[in-house]
Amino acid sequence: MALLTCASHAVSGDHFIANRRVASARALAVTSPIDGTPLGEIAAGDAAAADQAVEAAQHAFPAWAALSPAGRGPILRRLADLIERDVEALALVETTNNGSLFEASRLRVMKRAAYNIRYFADLAETLAAPAWDTEAANAHNRVRYDPAGPTALITPWNAPLMLATWKVGPALAAGNTVVLKPAEWTPVTASMLADLAVEAGLPPGVLNVLQGLGPEAGAALVAHPGIRRISFTGSPPTARLIGAAAAANLTPVSFELGGKSPLIVCDDADLDLAVATAAGQYDNAGQVCLAGTRLLVQAAVYDEFATRLRAKIAEIRQGDPRDPATHVGPLVHPKHLARVSGYVERAVAAGARVVCGGRVSPTLGGLYYEPTLLVDVPEGAEILREEVFGPVLTLQTVADDAAIVAVANDTDYGLAAVVFTRDQARAERLADALVAGTVWVNCFFVRDLAAPFGGSRQSGIGREGGHWSFDFYCDVKNVVHRKGTFAEAHAAGRRPHGA
Ligand code: ADP
Repeated sequence: MALLTCASHAVSGDHFIANRRVASARALAVTSPIDGTPLGEIAAGDAAAADQAVEAAQHAFPAWAALSPAGRGPILRRLADLIERDVEALALVETTNNGSLFEASRLRVMKRAAYNIRYFADLAETLAAPAWDTEAANAHNRVRYDPAGPTALITPWNAPLMLATWKVGPALAAGNTVVLKPAEWTPVTASMLADLAVEAGLPPGVLNVLQGLGPEAGAALVAHPGIRRISFTGSPPTARLIGAAAAANLTPVSFELGGKSPLIVCDDADLDLAVATAAGQYDNAGQVCLAGTRLLVQAAVYDEFATRLRAKIAEIRQGDPRDPATHVGPLVHPKHLARVSGYVERAVAAGARVVCGGRVSPTLGGLYYEPTLLVDVPEGAEILREEVFGPVLTLQTVADDAAIVAVANDTDYGLAAVVFTRDQARAERLADALVAGTVWVNCFFVRDLAAPFGGSRQSGIGREGGHWSFDFYCDVKNVVHRKGTFAEAHAAGRRPHGA
């Protein structure tokens, strides 16, 4: 039996399969990034555990799929209510496990986790399924969103429960069953979600949690021929491995793979807003896939922007993420610290200049890497091309709109772009020309669940959010019948899915 004690909460580290805890012969240690405290152990899942979890999901699928969206809705809304009930505990556990800010977690992130479940449960009940006539063939078309089957959900460590529910919500609302594989560094809130699922009345096998290492538990899960959908958030190298495994079974995938997003400050921008937003890119110690880490500032406002940003960075309080006064906490893991500091060291060796940070905090030590700003970065440098996923921003100057678009799009990624300008026509021209799944103009991180979300180029495959989630998690079926062969009349139009 694997056990975790996290912020005084005793949580099982075992797998959760068919509503029962399943132990593993091998275990993995989990530690807190706040101060290195051991939190206990989780099961190190292998192919046998993955088989068992997928079999449970297969077994539970027909009955769960047969419940209409209206039948699944109350159970899922109960799960959302329970997450809301436990927001404080979930937030403190998440903070202890991954180092994200407690205050942000309890006020926003955990509430969003509940909303991820509630929103998709509600949407499944009202999702408009198109219906229309093909007059020339005297036929009627009616679209159905059929559940696809057992779904593998592989999640990262930067926002563990938020990203788990962002996938679990639509997958379950669609009528699929789930095997969730949380990241091995941050497994605790997924295990707590499993307990809440039992309390909410989710039937055994509908939601399973497989613990363990990516290359072992995760790899076995995504290669399983019983899996009908794979949704993954993580890095492009891992996505290539998952994509190759999925290809063998022709399993559809949805990938969100991070970014190297530009934050563009035009010469007519509201600089107060632009500077505050740029400094906000250090949130969660920069471990945010959407972060606008390449600051592209037009020459006319470059000096003022740089001066004001440096002053703002100096005000950032780094420290224990449980302290409400803290703005930036630690990185998630010693291996990740090595990755982040390696990027900065190589950037400096290539000629970049550190104007803020560039080191572990001398007073805090541990995993507390300081908010870092790099200038004079040579064109084409690794730090401008690869995702650091840490509190590291680069500052570049750009001449005009043509240069803004060229530099912004000069990346293999395409997740997001942020634009600051007071000129609406200019904003629209830039937004049209930028390669990104989301463009924010004079704002950042507005994430409406009804909106499509995903990345262009190597930032991902597919879109989730709103009805796009159901386009992915469902087998979309068109039922066509010859008109006049049934007594009832069929009016063309849209009607709720499941009606
Ligand atoms: P990172 O390297 O920053 O941890 P990854 O993209 O490797 O990012 O990890 C994201 C998630 O993918 C984690 O849950 C991890 O366990 C999982 N993972 C890693 N390798 C594999 C793999 N080969 N197959 C399936 N899942 C994997």
